[in-house]
Amino acid sequence: MVIECDVLVVGAGPAGCSAARAAAEAGAKTIFIDKKKEIGIPVQCAEAIGTYLIPFLPFRIPEEQLIWKIDGISFWAEDITIKRKGGMWSSYAINRDQFDKWLANNAIGAGAKLLLDSELVDLEFREKYYVTNAIVKTRKGIRVISPKVVIAADGADSTVLKLSRLKKEHEGSIGEIKSYEMHDLQLDNPYYDQLFIGEFAPGAYGYIFPKSKTTANVGAGFLFPQKSIDHCYEEFLEVPVVKKQLKNGKEVTEKSGRVPFCYLTDKWNYGNVLLVGDAANQNIKPLVEGFLPAIACGDLAGKRAAKYVSGKNTLDDYSKDIEHKLGFLFKDSDILLDIAYDLLQSNAAKERLLSLGINTNVFSYKKIEKLKRENCDDLKRKLDSWNNSKIRQALTYLSEKSLFHYIC
Ligand SMILES: Cc1cc2nc3c(=O)[nH]c(=O)nc-3n(C[C@H](O)[C@H](O)[C@H](O)COP(=O)(O)OP(=O)(O)OC[C@H]3O[C@@H](n4cnc5c(N)ncnc54)[C@H](O)[C@@H]3O)c2cc1C
Repeated sequence: MVIECDVLVVGAGPAGCSAARAAAEAGAKTIFIDKKKEIGIPVQCAEAIGTYLIPFLPFRIPEEQLIWKIDGISFWAEDITIKRKGGMWSSYAINRDQFDKWLANNAIGAGAKLLLDSELVDLEFREKYYVTNAIVKTRKGIRVISPKVVIAADGADSTVLKLSRLKKEHEGSIGEIKSYEMHDLQLDNPYYDQLFIGEFAPGAYGYIFPKSKTTANVGAGFLFPQKSIDHCYEEFLEVPVVKKQLKNGKEVTEKSGRVPFCYLTDKWNYGNVLLVGDAANQNIKPLVEGFLPAIACGDLAGKRAAKYVSGKNTLDDYSKDIEHKLGFLFKDSDILLDIAYDLLQSNAAKERLLSLGINTNVFSYKKIEKLKRENCDDLKRKLDSWNNSKIRQALTYLSEKSLFHYIC
């Protein structure tokens, strides 16, 4: 039996749930599927959401979802620590499994039908990128779903992209992260997220993201696989400033996973397929924040798909919707991605200092070529002098309508 629907959303993570909710709310007959048996499990996230992204959401986040307030981020490289506070540095910790369930329930409440334990295994096409049937493996056997629009919200290893031959993976396009929620920690400051740039994490970073006074998500990743991910993580735990905070810590839940590290200004619609969330690389660099952008873009994809099935407008307008809403953030993210690729491939002390300066916005990305000509001592001196300056803000680089606009 073929199940017909207007919109099939593949994946019930934040992007998929948000898309399903928006499409169903706008009147489209919507089905969203996930290969998981339970929404949100396993968690593959460090569970931090930037407050500067919250205004882009299509709804208010219930207070109970925001479990811990983070005032700022402390960045570390080559024994220099730079602390940034407020603006784009402040965030909340969330419980991803609970947040994802809340999102899924909203979609169900709006009328979307959820099929769990249902994995997309094949697609049939009328012509290139025009899907006619989705072949879905369920506990009860194979089901065929025939949608008018497919929303690919199936994450960094998207099956829709693979089956549509849209996947273009190359070295450095996917970051791998090993991470655990740890308990019984002695955190230096539980109100600051901590990011560590070092040899242990080639092309990426290690992190401690608190969820309470004594618990945190602790992880390390790489972009360029010069060693195993286990090796990265173990080396990170040995960094003295990390080790002392984790001394009696217990690894409670593994939350490892993969993140796309690609340009954001890609094309996001092909035939009757819209790409959203990690499947569309919609995360903001350099911190690779994907959770809230996935929800914001999912909403736009769902609304656009519903308009399309009701005969209004084309799917092409989805990219314009994103450009209109988040375009300026995404463009800046792409600039930072260019710099990150350039700096992080070398994994040498000087490049780490430059990354520290750029990521903290102490150095202007516009001056990167000039800064590259300086030596380690000069860069250290500059970073130290920013730390010691009484008028720090005057030395940071702000521009109006940009990611850097959110810096306090
Ligand atoms: C270790 C780690 C830490 C991170 N930390 C943060 C952070 O602190 N803050 C932040 O904002 N972002 C963070 N991210 C990124 C963030 O988790 C993602 O950007 C976000 O989850 C993307 O949402 P999504 O809905 O696009 O994809 P996902 O959340 O990956 O959801 C995709 C869903 O599709 C399902 N699926 C996949 N294939 C199929 C198939 N064939 N059939 C059916 N279902 C399928 C999966 O089961 C999954 O439920 C982190 C990522 C990782 C890996």
